[in-house]
Amino acid sequence: MGTKGREMVSMDVSELIELLNKAFADEWLAYYQYWVGAKVVKGPMRGQVTSELEEHAGEELEHAQMLIERITQLGGTPILNPEDWYRMTNCGYDAPTDHFVVPVLEQNIKGEQCAIEVYNKLLEITKDKDPVTYHMALEILEDEVEHEEDLQAILEDLRERR
Ligand code: FE
Ligand code: FE
Ligand code: MG
Repeated sequence: MGTKGREMVSMDVSELIELLNKAFADEWLAYYQYWVGAKVVKGPMRGQVTSELEEHAGEELEHAQMLIERITQLGGTPILNPEDWYRMTNCGYDAPTDHFVVPVLEQNIKGEQCAIEVYNKLLEITKDKDPVTYHMALEILEDEVEHEEDLQAILEDLRERR
């Protein structure tokens, strides 16, 4: 990153890079959980659930892209080995071993709720300290809030079916 750009960050940059890498690990695991979930999910409203999961997978990948850009701008090294995703993750990974729509949706809702907490914390930490990261975290948070709502709405529709 340019020297002036780095000067603007009034917090410990290596700590910030660590937090961004942790979120980066979360995004890759979330991406895969959605992507593989879309392939195996079964049950009512399967078509709608599949397209929502696929759409979210694509958006998690975009988040990973935003994070890696910021990490490199800050002079950091992104996670290079997928093994480190598990070591670094905040939100973990829930394998969709039960392919029925309800547990798959519930697992992903849990993941979104964790992501909302992660980005909310990142906003608190970067507020008035690093406006560029703050802005990025806010953009991602808006998507995660939408993701949670989309999945909960499908789950409600499913539960209303008899
Ligand atoms: Fe995300
Ligand atoms: Fe999400
Ligand atoms: Mg959606």
